Amino acid sequence: MTHIRAIDHFINGTPVSNRSGRVHPVTNPATGQVTGHAGLADEAQVNEAVAAAAAAFPAWSETPPIRRARVLFKFLALLNEHKEELAHLITAEHGKVFSDALGEVTRGIDIVEFACGIPQLLKGDYTDQVSTGIDNWTLRQPLGVVAGVTPFNFPVMVPMWMFPVAIAAGNTFVLKPSPTDPTPALRVAELFTEAGLPDGVFNVIQGDKSAVDALLEHPEVQAVSFVGSTPIANHIYETGARQGKRVQALGGAKNHMVVMPDADIEQAVDALIGAGFGSAGERCMAISVAVLVGDVADRVMPELIRRTRALKVRHGEDPAAEMGPIVTRAAHDRISTYIAKGVEEGAELLVDGRDFDNASAGTGCEDGFWMGGTLFDHVSPEMSIYKEEIFGPVLACVRVPDMAQALQLINDHEFGNGVACFTSDGNLAREFSRQVQVGMVGINVPIPVPMAWHGFGGWKKSLFGDTHAYGEEGVRFYTKQKSIMQRWSASIGKGAEFSMPTAK
Ligand code: NAD
Repeated sequence: MTHIRAIDHFINGTPVSNRSGRVHPVTNPATGQVTGHAGLADEAQVNEAVAAAAAAFPAWSETPPIRRARVLFKFLALLNEHKEELAHLITAEHGKVFSDALGEVTRGIDIVEFACGIPQLLKGDYTDQVSTGIDNWTLRQPLGVVAGVTPFNFPVMVPMWMFPVAIAAGNTFVLKPSPTDPTPALRVAELFTEAGLPDGVFNVIQGDKSAVDALLEHPEVQAVSFVGSTPIANHIYETGARQGKRVQALGGAKNHMVVMPDADIEQAVDALIGAGFGSAGERCMAISVAVLVGDVADRVMPELIRRTRALKVRHGEDPAAEMGPIVTRAAHDRISTYIAKGVEEGAELLVDGRDFDNASAGTGCEDGFWMGGTLFDHVSPEMSIYKEEIFGPVLACVRVPDMAQALQLINDHEFGNGVACFTSDGNLAREFSRQVQVGMVGINVPIPVPMAWHGFGGWKKSLFGDTHAYGEEGVRFYTKQKSIMQRWSASIGKGAEFSMPTAK
């Protein structure tokens, strides 16, 4: 019998039990066993977390940035020390393979490294002598209590797109992670506290829609960062904006990878297999559509079929595993339904992941949420497997005659998160990058997730709001500009002025 743990909240520097009486079962997707119950916070408990964050704000925002950075440096050291532990926690609740989980933690740590530079990032502008005896400067101040709502697919990295930058900038934070894999965020909160973060600066509440609604309605919450599916992102953006909050809401995706006839075929196939099936396709930057240009399909398809069949789909803790299970039974059902729809709509099913034998994933995996890689050819733009986000290990191949039609296809799609183009023609690549209506572009790079100091964000239905996550865009999102104009000279400006002041 597996012991079922209570997975609750972290408020004001300490673990806090859930009081609502409502829980969400947490499963190990590899075995299908319930391992924990995530408490689902009610409004009162959300208010408690916001109150703790509000109480911590005055002192934290007054703490000099260099001293805030020192806490982040200690946090960084602890994260590096506990990297593997965090990755094991991710594999246990999400299912992704351990090496991938470790990569996720590392990409999260990158953002903490960036946030350690906060004294430099907060430096303002200054103009001497805007008028005789008058100087003008701008500075950026924190907003107050800010909240983050995050998806299941990166339980460590996506929260770290948000809170290290927000907290470094002087805000206090309430994180609501996905109830599907709630444990890693709690461990991260403990480590931050161990690093010397004052109580209340970083709080974690587990919950579902009720907790999110309570955050959106709370007058003390100044800004909300959201990452998840498009319908919810849209709801968060509209509701938050109506409440007068700053909102950045990152949504779903359908990422294309164009393969030109002059591409290195081996490199392109490697990229399609890794980016299509890595993390079981449950990445917002996963490649879910291969756009095969001209006669390249004839050279790519045989290898793609062979490699999809040869995928090592195993328990995430098996060092040989390339792909783990699907996160939940519901997600498994959704993906299976899409595969059936693809067949009904006339796409050619070349490899069917539904045929997977669970026992081959490893001991104890019989009841897990397993599926192999699925490959479709001759997919067309009106099919639901082309239009909609499946969020699973399903790669759809579309054939087009030339680059112009490849671009048209991508630009007409409602999502615009990531895109890739594999070619050996520099000028074509340059034109592709300039003309494509997508936020993040990879040239011979299948998953172009920008580094910590560049910022992450899609276009169209993949992002609601004005700023990207992390990087300098993140610093701007979590701070507001103040302009100060100052005069100390007593000798000028005597007497009331009734005309609009101009430089003298
Ligand atoms: P989701 O939208 O179901 O959930 C995201 C968060 O919203 C969770 O914390 C969840 O508890 C909360 N939530 C769910 N329903 C809600 C509701 N009705 N009202 C308020 N809050 C609600 O997404 P998911 O299944 O956890 O994650 C997968 C999705 O996230 C995919 O669509 C993927 O593309 C997207 N994603 C996008 C990015 C990006 O950067 N654009 C990154 C990662 C994941």
